[in-house]
Amino acid sequence: MRFDADYKMLIDGKLVDADDKMDVINPATGKPFASCPRASKLDLDASVDAAQRAFKTWKKTSTDERRALLRKAAGLIGENADALASLFTKEQGRPTDLAKQEILGASYWLASTADLDLPVDVTEDTDSRRIEVHHVPLGVVCGIVPWNFPVLLASWKIAPALLAGNTIVLKPSPFTPLCTLKLGELFQEAFPPGVFNVISGGDELGPWMTSHEGFAKISFTGSTATGKRVMESASKDLKRVTLELGGNDAAIVLPDVDVEKVTEQLFAGAFGNTAQICVATKRLYVHEDIYDAVRDKMHALAKAAPVGDGSAQGNMFGPIQNKAQYERVLNLMEDAKKDGLNMLYGSDVPEEGYFIPITIVDNPPEDSRVVKEEAFGPILPMMKFSDVDEVIARANDTEYGLAGAVWSANIEKAVEIANEMETGTVWINQNLQSTPLTPLAGHKQSGLGAENGIYGLREFTQPKSVYIPKSAEAVK
Ligand code: NAD
Repeated sequence: MRFDADYKMLIDGKLVDADDKMDVINPATGKPFASCPRASKLDLDASVDAAQRAFKTWKKTSTDERRALLRKAAGLIGENADALASLFTKEQGRPTDLAKQEILGASYWLASTADLDLPVDVTEDTDSRRIEVHHVPLGVVCGIVPWNFPVLLASWKIAPALLAGNTIVLKPSPFTPLCTLKLGELFQEAFPPGVFNVISGGDELGPWMTSHEGFAKISFTGSTATGKRVMESASKDLKRVTLELGGNDAAIVLPDVDVEKVTEQLFAGAFGNTAQICVATKRLYVHEDIYDAVRDKMHALAKAAPVGDGSAQGNMFGPIQNKAQYERVLNLMEDAKKDGLNMLYGSDVPEEGYFIPITIVDNPPEDSRVVKEEAFGPILPMMKFSDVDEVIARANDTEYGLAGAVWSANIEKAVEIANEMETGTVWINQNLQSTPLTPLAGHKQSGLGAENGIYGLREFTQPKSVYIPKSAEAVK
């Protein structure tokens, strides 16, 4: 199998092209390097029809059969991790060693989710009757994925959807379709025709999917603005939705931390994947006693960090993934400069491609755009605080509620602060962690429902209550 060409969709177990094509850009050069199918409405209909047909038999397979096939799929990803990682770097931009971590992460997620169970719950068991609650599959799932973690986030949908007995049509972002199309080709060997389908397309494909009446559920990851459109579209026929959306995550750093060690972690938590992580630290609140020391160390790390083409050895950070996002982040930086904010720049970046230097904004006002908006790029506002209650209020003063972090040598105090944070996830002295057993769920406008673990798995099912008499006589 080739990873540098032949990008096709997987529909009904067959690799298919579309009449139309679209270019895929390498963000490190800003130039197209491949093309892939641009699905038509007919391609979408064909994938949904195939998934509906396959659902009739897939839902009747045992959980153990489905587990075995998910483990097989996990193995196929693992065996092809190097080839997938180098393709990943070309379309997404991230340095290849880090790209490989995502690929292996997806394999791990498929295998770990396969271990989950959906036991029948019993709510009553008396002499006269037994009431069982079964968790039955919904039908065909529409999976929509963004460009920042295209493979891992796809695995978060594929694994629970299929384990629960649904079938799926998956759509990657138009900016990062290639690795996902190759997953389709690999999974031809794992799943029966129609159980797993991948279609690629332009901006029109997402709305076609969310309004398609053949889907029973939409599992969406992306921005809050798009999430609202998805929910509106799904409301027409009450499709189930899970929405994993944007965030403007705060980290609170107390004065008792080891500045040297913690700052390295803060830096990684803010700028990993060139700050294109939904749960990255996007607002950094540091106690005034250590503010200058943390800021200077952050700036030194930024100046020392190599930024460049992820395919070249030694680069720690790649480009912004696409032109629209690049222009958004540049605009945010220009605005911050115009407002006279103190900008601390990191190392120089290549002129070609969508590169932006790592930038720290030194103590901007709380109401500036760079604090209020999710940047989703390497521009981090760092703010001083003196009072813990006041900083918790500032951290919570946002429409978002995805994740947050507290850093302190005093765990008890940190837990107290964590309990006050209005976020779906909060880390103490760590960040960017997630596990296949632990839900990721956004508060407020960061999402609806949860992914991962039993919490995420249940979202791909419908509870069905069955009242069973103990004898053939009617129960009074
Ligand atoms: P986006 O909302 O622009 O696009 C996400 C996906 O939705 C893409 O596949 C896109 O083609 C599709 N899409 C676009 N318009 C659509 C529509 N009207 N109907 C249906 N689908 C549509 O987001 P993005 O720019 O790709 O990703 C960045 C955003 O995703 C950030 O806000 C980030 O915080 C968020 N994100 C959240 C999580 C999480 O788990 N909460 C994880 C990763 C990224």
